[in-house]
Amino acid sequence: MIKKSMVKVEGMSVPCYSLNTLIIGSGIAGLNAALCLYEQGLRDMSVVTDGLGRGTSNNAGSDKQTYYKLSLSGSKPDSPEKMAHDLFKGRCMHGDLALCEAVNSVRCFMNLVRLGVPFPHDTYGSYVGYKTDNDPLGRATSAGPLTSHLICRRLIEEIKQKGIKIMDKHEVIALLDDGKDGQKQVKGAVAIDGDQLDSESMGFVVFNAVNVILATGGPAGMYKASVYPESQQGSTGLAFEAGAAGNNLTESQFGLASVKFRWNLSGTYQQVIPRYLSTDVNGRDEKEFLNPFFPDMGTLSTAIFLKGYEWPFDVEKIRNYGSSLIDVLVYRETVKKGRRVFLDYTQNPKGEGKMSGFDFSLLDEQAYAYLKKSGALFGTPVRRLKKVNLPAYRLYKDHGIDLERERLEMAVCAQHNNGGLKANIWWESNVKHLFPVGEVCGTHGVCRPGGSSINACLVGGLRAALFISKKYAHDPPGDEKFLKGSQDKISGTIEFARGILSKPGSGDFSLSKAAEEIKKRMSSYGAVVREKEAVFREKQKAWKLYRRLKKEITIRSKKELPKAFKCLDLCLTHAVYLEAVYEYLERGGKSRGSSMVLDPQGQKPCAALGEDWRYTCEKPGSYTAGRILEVSLDKDLFVKKKWVSIRPVPAHETWFENVWRDFRDDKFIKEEI
Ligand SMILES: Cc1cc2nc3c(=O)[nH]c(=O)nc-3n(C[C@H](O)[C@H](O)[C@H](O)COP(=O)(O)OP(=O)(O)OC[C@H]3O[C@@H](n4cnc5c(N)ncnc54)[C@H](O)[C@@H]3O)c2cc1C
Repeated sequence: MIKKSMVKVEGMSVPCYSLNTLIIGSGIAGLNAALCLYEQGLRDMSVVTDGLGRGTSNNAGSDKQTYYKLSLSGSKPDSPEKMAHDLFKGRCMHGDLALCEAVNSVRCFMNLVRLGVPFPHDTYGSYVGYKTDNDPLGRATSAGPLTSHLICRRLIEEIKQKGIKIMDKHEVIALLDDGKDGQKQVKGAVAIDGDQLDSESMGFVVFNAVNVILATGGPAGMYKASVYPESQQGSTGLAFEAGAAGNNLTESQFGLASVKFRWNLSGTYQQVIPRYLSTDVNGRDEKEFLNPFFPDMGTLSTAIFLKGYEWPFDVEKIRNYGSSLIDVLVYRETVKKGRRVFLDYTQNPKGEGKMSGFDFSLLDEQAYAYLKKSGALFGTPVRRLKKVNLPAYRLYKDHGIDLERERLEMAVCAQHNNGGLKANIWWESNVKHLFPVGEVCGTHGVCRPGGSSINACLVGGLRAALFISKKYAHDPPGDEKFLKGSQDKISGTIEFARGILSKPGSGDFSLSKAAEEIKKRMSSYGAVVREKEAVFREKQKAWKLYRRLKKEITIRSKKELPKAFKCLDLCLTHAVYLEAVYEYLERGGKSRGSSMVLDPQGQKPCAALGEDWRYTCEKPGSYTAGRILEVSLDKDLFVKKKWVSIRPVPAHETWFENVWRDFRDDKFIKEEI
C-alpha cells in the first residue's frame, strides 16, 4: 500500500509518498491507466492531478465527438490488421504501435460500454459506425458532442468506487531520474500541493515511485490560437528534462475554431455556409477577405460548405480552391496581417461583381443535395443552422453567444498533437519505468483517423498496466535509498523555488509576458505555416527566453509557484518543438498533414496570393517521408536529433496453440521486439 513519511530536504520537512506507480494526469489516459492497473491486481498507486476535471478529455468536444475502433456492425469486412494498416497509412507511425492500437481497440471500447458510457446501438445490439476523416470503413462511433467528458465521468466514478487514491490540486514540477550504465530510469517526482502553498514547506511533496505513468495531455499551453480547453496546458517539458525522447514533434492538427468560447467550427457550422469577414483590431474596416481569392461565389460557397466535412487543415486540400485554402487565408488575415476574423450567421456570403448574388443553385451537387435533403434551401445561415442542427445553435447560446445577433470570432487553432513522447509497444519511453500515455505520447504521425486519439489514450494505459504488473510490480526502495539518488534534484528544485521568491523583481519580465511570447511564437512560426529561416531565428529566441527565465524569473508570492514552473516547462517544450521543426526543414521536409512549408520553388495556393505563399507537398520516398525524427536533451540540455526508420506493421503469431502456451507462461511480455 502507499506509504507516507516525512523526509528532511533543504532543512524542510516534506511529505514523501512511496508507491509502486504514480499516475500523473486525470484525463482519459490517466484515469483509465489507473483502472487497468487495478484490474491487474496492483493497489499501491495514485492518480496525481493539478485539478480533477481539468484537461482536454474533460472539457473538449465537437458536434459528434468520435471514438475510432474496429468495425462492429454492417456487412463490410474489417480486421485488426486492416485497421492497423489504415492507421499506419497516416504516415510516420510505427507499424507495431498501429497494430497494438488496432487489436486492443475492441477491448478498450467494450470496457467503456461495460462502464456505462452511452455509445448507441441498434435493436440487435449492433454498434453501428460512421466514416470519420482518414477512415475507409465507417469505424467511428460517438456518444454525442461530449464523448470524452462522458468517458471521464464514468472512469472517475469507477476509480472512486474502487477506492483508488486521487491526489487533487497537485502540480508535478519535476521527474526524478537516475542513470546507470547510460540507461536512464525514472524514480519518482516532485509536486506542489496547491492547498499547502503557504506552509513552511511551500507545498512541496515528493513521490518515491517504481513507475511513473505520464498522462499530462498535449502541450496546449504553448499556442495562442488554440481550441484546447484553457485548463489544459501540458507538461511535456518534465519528460524532456528527464531525458525522454520526443518523436514526430512536428506533427499536430490545426483547424478553424471559435476563440471566445473554444469550439471546433466543423460540421454543420460550415455546412450552413456562413459569411466570413475580417476587421481591424478595433472591429472597424470590415472586409469580405476571402472574396479576392476565389473565382466566383459558387466556388467560395462550396469551399465553405466542404470545410464542414474536411475540418482539419490539410495541405493536400488547398489547391483548386479546396476547403483548406480558407484556413490559409484566415491564417494570413489573423497572423500575418494582425486582423480579426469572424463568422457572420446573420447574412449569406456577399460581395461585388462575380462574388455577388449568393444562390443555392451555384453550389456543387454535394452541397446542394445536403441542404435540400435537410430542408434548408432557404434564409440566412443561422436559420439554416437552427433547422438542421438546433443543438449546435444552442451550444453557443448556452455559452453566451447568440449567433442570431453576434458574430463569432475565430482563428486557425491548435487542436491535437499527433506526435509527442516516444514509446515502445508497452508504452514505455526510452527512460525506463516512465510510461507516457494519451496525447503526451506521440504514437501517431502525419494524419490519423478522427477518433483514434481517444483509442490511443485507452490502449496506452492498458499496455502500460500489463507490462508494469508483470515486470515492474515490486515495492519502491526505502526512504534513505530513495533520497540518496534523488536528493540533489529535489534540493535543486526547492532551492530554485526559494530563489525566485526572494529575488527582487526584475522590472517588466513577468510570467504572463513570457507565456505570451511563447504562445505567439508557436502560433506564428511553429504551427500552420513554417519557414526555415524564421524557425531558425525563433528557436534561438526560444532558448534565450528559457535561459533568461531560469536566471531572472521572480514571483510575488508562493501562490505563483505552480505558474512559474508551468511557464518554464512550456518554455522548454516550445524550444524542443522548434528544434524538431527546424531539423525537419533543414532535411528538406515539405508541407504535409496540417502544416504548410513555404518554398519559393513550389506552387501558389491560388492565383491571387503573392509569391511568398508558394509551397510544395512532401513526396513519397523523400528522406523525411520514410523516417521518424526523434529529439531529446542530454543532461546539459544539449539537443540530440535522430532519424529512425519507420517500423512496418509486424507479421505476428496467429497459431492459437503457440499463443496460448506463451500466454500461460507470460512469455507474451517481451520488452524489445
Ligand atoms: C476540441 C477538441 C475536439 C476533439 N475531438 C476528438 C475526437 O472527436 N476524437 C478523439 O479521439 N479525440 C479528440 N480530441 C483529442 C482528445 O480529446 C485528446 O487527445 C484526449 O482527450 C487527451 O486525453 P489525455 O488524457 O491524454 O489528456 P487530457 O485529457 O488533456 O488530460 C491531461 C491531464 O493532465 C493533468 N496535468 C497536466 N500537467 C500536469 C502536471 N504537471 N501535474 C499534474 N497534473 C497535470 C491535466 O490537468 C489533465 O488532468 C479532441 C480535442 C479537442 C481539443
